[in-house]
Amino acid sequence: MTIETVGIVGAGQMGQGIAQAVTLAGCAVTLVDVDRTRANEGREALARTLRRLGERGKLDPGTAEAALKRVEAAGDTGALAHADLVIEAATEREEIKRGIFASLAPVLRDEAVLATNTSSIPITRLASAARDPRQFVGIHFFNPVPLMRLVEVIPGLATAPETVEVARAFAQRLGKEVVLSRDEPGFVVNRMLLPMINEAVFLLAEGTASAQDIDRGARLGLNHPLGPLQLADLIGLDTCLEIIRVLHASTGDGKYRPAPLLQRYVEAGWLGRKSGRGFYDYGGPEPVPAR
Ligand code: NAD
Repeated sequence: MTIETVGIVGAGQMGQGIAQAVTLAGCAVTLVDVDRTRANEGREALARTLRRLGERGKLDPGTAEAALKRVEAAGDTGALAHADLVIEAATEREEIKRGIFASLAPVLRDEAVLATNTSSIPITRLASAARDPRQFVGIHFFNPVPLMRLVEVIPGLATAPETVEVARAFAQRLGKEVVLSRDEPGFVVNRMLLPMINEAVFLLAEGTASAQDIDRGARLGLNHPLGPLQLADLIGLDTCLEIIRVLHASTGDGKYRPAPLLQRYVEAGWLGRKSGRGFYDYGGPEPVPAR
């Protein structure tokens, strides 16, 4: 099956990044959010990114404009009747995702593949809310999508082999490398990453080192391009908290206990870059430690 028309539900940071990668691969994209205003905001943010890339010479300006023309915004999933593939990239909450799949059931074409970009919710469980679990699969992108080369493909229990192949071929068409993961908590990468981020928050809360030094430690001592607190701010602290909670709840293993400071930051609305403040403050020209 060749994918030409892609619906993306959730026009936040991941939805925008996925839309960018997908339109630059030549597919038509419909970006959906809770209402038309939010969807338009997502499309506008993508337009700014594409134009900036054009101005800086990183993308041919004609290519950037053509890519933007292939992206539409819509206020509900009713606009996805022609999609070959729908990628759900909405807020990491199971009831939200289930509601989206229910709204898609009467809309999708019979052949359409439905994918979720969830970071942590079991694919098999989400598939049970889809019209046909055989045509449901996890396609897990990394942030920022246009730059990150990895995609995890995660079949659920009922996912058909053909659906896995559609997902794999699609990711490769976007220029990504694919890691196939069983449907286990955190899949492969977040299972390694989130305990590290959580531990970094414990280190900060215990006063072992400053946020800057914790991040410097990971950059210079582990050769990571970003420290764990910088990366948490990029991912979104709400998303990080949801993932570590899922790891904790699904395994019952105390080693995944969410750091209380992470919970407090999320309660405060300090969600990282997307809210302007997390472990760093993004109000000025350069991020500065926020505490
Ligand atoms: P975000 O908060 O930036 O965006 C979520 C978007 O979903 C918002 O625009 C919100 O309005 C929209 N939304 C909420 N309910 C909706 C509904 N019913 N219908 C349509 N849209 C709805 O979050 P994000 O970082 O883009 O994360 C989105 C998904 O991608 C989550 O499942 C997350 O776990 C996953 N993910 C995130 C990252 C990351 O680094 N942030 C990486 C991989 C996967």
